[in-house]
Amino acid sequence: MGVYVFGFSDDIGKRSAREFLGGKGAGLREMVGLGIPVPPGFTISTETCKAWNDAKGQFPKGLTDEVKAAMAAMGQNVGRTFGDAKDPLLVSVRSGAAASMPGMMDTILNLGLNDLTVEGLAKSSGNRRFAFDAYRRLLQMFGDVVMGVERELFEKALADEKRGLGNTGMPDSEVPAEALERVCVKSKQIIQEHAGRAFPDDVYEQLWQAIAAVFRSWDNPRAVRYRKMQDIRGLIGTAVNVQAMVFGNLGDDSGSGVAFTRNPANGERVLYGEYLANAQGEDVVAGIRTPRALTKRGSPVGREGDSFEGSMPDAFASLVDAANRLESHFADMQDIEFTVERGRTYLLQTRTGKRTAHAAVRIAVDMVAEGAITKEQAVLRVDALALDQLLHARLPEPATLKKRGVEPIAAGIPASPGAAIGAIVLHADDAERLAAEGKEVILVRRETSPEDIHGMKAAEGIVTATGGMTSHAAVVARGLGKCCVAGCSALTVDYETNTVIARTAAGKSVTLHPGDTISLDGTHGLIYAGELEVEAAAKVPEFDTLMEWADAHRTLGVRTNADTARQARTARSFGAEGIGLCRTEHMFFAEERVEAVRCMALAEDDADRATWLAKIAPMQRSDFEELFEAMDGLPVTIRLLDWPLHEFLPTGEREFEAVARALGTDVATVKRRAEALHEVNPMLGHRGVRLGITQPAVYRMQIRAILEAAAACAGKGVRVFPEIMIPVVSLAEELSVLRDEATAVADEVFGAAGKRIDYRFGTMIELPRACLVADDIAKHAEFFSFGTNDLTQTTFGISRDDAAKFLSAYADHPRALLEHDPFARLDTRGVGELVRIASTRGRATRADLKLGICGEHGGDPSSIAFAAEVGLDYVSCSPPRLPIARLAAAQASLRAKAQAPRGS
Ligand code: PEP
Ligand code: MG
Repeated sequence: MGVYVFGFSDDIGKRSAREFLGGKGAGLREMVGLGIPVPPGFTISTETCKAWNDAKGQFPKGLTDEVKAAMAAMGQNVGRTFGDAKDPLLVSVRSGAAASMPGMMDTILNLGLNDLTVEGLAKSSGNRRFAFDAYRRLLQMFGDVVMGVERELFEKALADEKRGLGNTGMPDSEVPAEALERVCVKSKQIIQEHAGRAFPDDVYEQLWQAIAAVFRSWDNPRAVRYRKMQDIRGLIGTAVNVQAMVFGNLGDDSGSGVAFTRNPANGERVLYGEYLANAQGEDVVAGIRTPRALTKRGSPVGREGDSFEGSMPDAFASLVDAANRLESHFADMQDIEFTVERGRTYLLQTRTGKRTAHAAVRIAVDMVAEGAITKEQAVLRVDALALDQLLHARLPEPATLKKRGVEPIAAGIPASPGAAIGAIVLHADDAERLAAEGKEVILVRRETSPEDIHGMKAAEGIVTATGGMTSHAAVVARGLGKCCVAGCSALTVDYETNTVIARTAAGKSVTLHPGDTISLDGTHGLIYAGELEVEAAAKVPEFDTLMEWADAHRTLGVRTNADTARQARTARSFGAEGIGLCRTEHMFFAEERVEAVRCMALAEDDADRATWLAKIAPMQRSDFEELFEAMDGLPVTIRLLDWPLHEFLPTGEREFEAVARALGTDVATVKRRAEALHEVNPMLGHRGVRLGITQPAVYRMQIRAILEAAAACAGKGVRVFPEIMIPVVSLAEELSVLRDEATAVADEVFGAAGKRIDYRFGTMIELPRACLVADDIAKHAEFFSFGTNDLTQTTFGISRDDAAKFLSAYADHPRALLEHDPFARLDTRGVGELVRIASTRGRATRADLKLGICGEHGGDPSSIAFAAEVGLDYVSCSPPRLPIARLAAAQASLRAKAQAPRGS
């Protein structure tokens, strides 16, 4: 059985309704069950799509009979017959997979029209213009989606008619019936000419071809790309929903709209959305006309009467009723598509609404207060990675800018918050190309379509001249967490002359070109010329509450990777429980230091080196003091020098001369020494502990600086917990040597200070050999911190600096050789296995061995879940990733608890 009538043939066995009937089919089924007005219809299952694909485009046996029976039942329900010449039933055919893929697959509306039935529809509706408008739309959609004829050709036919009528700017809704009739004739000719076959007059033939086209669209390039981008896996195909048409374009008592049960941008508990009178649903989503607000409250002052609420109060009331019922049924914010046909509201779709991180946090916290969900559900409901958006920078408030004489050049709809600065590009391919070259770009389009998705992803921000809050650009931008200003009608985007003309509020005209820099304020929907300063993100009041709940469920500790006191303070404000990695080489980068460091590296001998180390030592000590003060009361892990030596060697002539002068020698000598230090493969070269072994004075200086700083801070009442960490260790013996060095230095420092400070000594685990001999290494280490960047590099034997050049080919390979970039998401099978081995062996030697991760993976939710599963003590990540890490850690604990056998 492949066909399921909404609300009737309910038996789908043990299968998940979502996976089997797709999100849209499952939602329609639920709505019918709740008694919400839905046009009758049926769903063809995702399994049928798979069977069709397996059979190379053949419908499974019996499907056509099942569809015909369901069509007959639908006809009876609405009192019309499919293909009837007098009062024809028209249907829509829509895709709908288990995961939401907005606009990626195909939809065909108004199926069932031909030259005969269109006349019947004209009579039965009493509206000839409407009937031919419906027919024109069918020919265009069917021609495009099913028969592969370019959409622009049909649009041109309509534009030609408008020109013939002497009004190129005429709205579609005003094109008269006779002109639409001519567009229909022309559209059929276009199909014949460009597809090489005729548009099928047989209505069932239309239906079969449309169903097949929707099945086919599961694998169209943009759908495949979208699934990959959104990490949607394991689905077998799309379902197809065939549904009786209701018409939003029957006149001014009809219309279409989209409603969110809460504001998807900020989470406020108000019905939020848009509405277009006398229009079909795709007009709203396509963003061709700029819609009106749903509610009086959401309308501009003085325009309340134009809103859906103001103009059709009864139809609005029935939408509100359905929205309330749906939200409490699903206990989550819903995104609803509806159509009003002659004053009666029908719901066409409901799904969990996509939302910004800001809205996600607020909705989750509010719903706990409303008693709709538990705190645990709230913690699980917010996508940890999306929190990144919350920390997005913003432009200064418009009023502040105005005071400084900075006015926007155009205003639009604040479709996705944040700030973005970049150079204008008009085409998605350009956005992708320039972004790959490291440029920051803003994609400016009249409107976006699913074909633009790669450019939207590459751009810093998105601007469209038409379309509203629910247009493609807005929905996709919010999903991607990109700043977006939509429906900016003050912009004219001309692809032919490569210009963007903005009309300012003062009536001035500003002409911009690709390459010009603009600044976007997605929070207020404003565009500014040039580059404005950016401010740190604003706080969402509910954020702290959610974080508190998350922390209550988290077993994994969360530290930060920070090298400066400023970073450390930011990290603390984001909830860091210590520093997990301070990379001391980063402290050497400052301009006034780098020369001393270069001289130290290029010193003639140990005595010469000692002079330079003595210059560096006080700088290091004061850095560490600042760090300890900033982290008062919390542990601070300081990693001894692990430099990429080549980055510290002089390069230009000027640098060589400066070093030669400082060292009291000539440029040729310095060049010779630099040449001698050159490494073929610095990543596997003279780095980390190897430097500590060959030039012990360097690490000794650092250990002394750490312990002296700790003693000085303790003297000032700062509670210090220093942890000295040795990088790139592969032999237990290396660590043993360094531990003896540390003990000797500590005795000296504490002897001089007259007091001892507790400190820990440990190592990074970032080489496979270290994992395998972790039992021996643990004899000399009180903690291990997994350097999963190097561990991934050395386990795969893939250079972390060069991986990007070829790893994408592995991900794009037809056999998807690598599901994820292992440098971003821990390869749990391989690298993770080494982490497990090292943890087990290390703890076998030392039961209280502290374990953490300080590679980039420490801020990646799935890697964090792995860290929790292996039983590590903490993860350490960059400061802006801390909220993500805290939430991901809590989610890992909650999921583990849900999976644990009862009683454990
Ligand atoms: C690592 O290798 O994971 C690490 C944190 O060290 P670095 O990135 O500095 O090599
Ligand atoms: Mg490393």
